[in-house]
Amino acid sequence: ARGLEKVYRMGEVDVPALRGVDLELYDGELVVILGPSGSGKSTLLNILGGLDVPTGGRVRYREHDLVGASARALTRYRREHVGFVFQLYNLVPSLTARENVALACEIAPDPMPADEALRRVGLGERLDHFPSQLSGGEQQRVAIARAVAKRPDVLLCDEPTGALDAATGRVVLEVLEQVNRELGTTVVVITHNAAIAALADRVVHVRDGRIARVDHNARRAPAAEIAW
Ligand code: ATP
Ligand code: MG
Repeated sequence: ARGLEKVYRMGEVDVPALRGVDLELYDGELVVILGPSGSGKSTLLNILGGLDVPTGGRVRYREHDLVGASARALTRYRREHVGFVFQLYNLVPSLTARENVALACEIAPDPMPADEALRRVGLGERLDHFPSQLSGGEQQRVAIARAVAKRPDVLLCDEPTGALDAATGRVVLEVLEQVNRELGTTVVVITHNAAIAALADRVVHVRDGRIARVDHNARRAPAAEIAW
């Protein structure tokens, strides 16, 4: 993303959410986004995932420009390249864990078997459980399996532990770290949990619609500069 700006128009009032964000994400990175409430974290993630469009600046995914892309092209981008995990799990209550994952796979070009995705998040023994028969942390792990089964290039997670207690949240974050490490999926996590910040390649601090600071961890060598 280059010079990303987002202004929400609320009737006569303009609400600026992003005020010039430059951000590069590299293949295989684990990136944590931290920042106060209202600083623009979700807005940034939604634009990166093609769920929302900026009012200024550019977003590129590999060689594709996302700004100005047709709605059809953005849908395709989301389906084929992006997995989302949100604070609320949004599982279908009448479907089992396995069926929830399989349903999402129907729109993916080359999905992973649902059972394999569930085993990866440690739910191999919960395949036939309905969401109401699973704990919050387990439900979130089903949601992660559902996103991972599409084999996305990038997994975008908006406060995935927001509804969980600290210990359960830690398990969910460890699952995300494991997905990143074992499958090579690029993972971006908005979280207030400091524990995952230690596992991340980079911690991006967002403040008032801008990137205030980026901390690099030495876990991996920094990737080459992207030419704009
Ligand atoms: P939180 O940690 O509370 O989730 P955030 O960093 O994710 O906060 P955003 O949701 O990106 O913050 O919101 C940034 C700003 O944009 C806020 O001032 C918010 O009120 C405003 N905003 C977000 N979404 C909309 C919308 N759909 N319409 C109007 N204003 C919005
Ligand atoms: Mg948010």
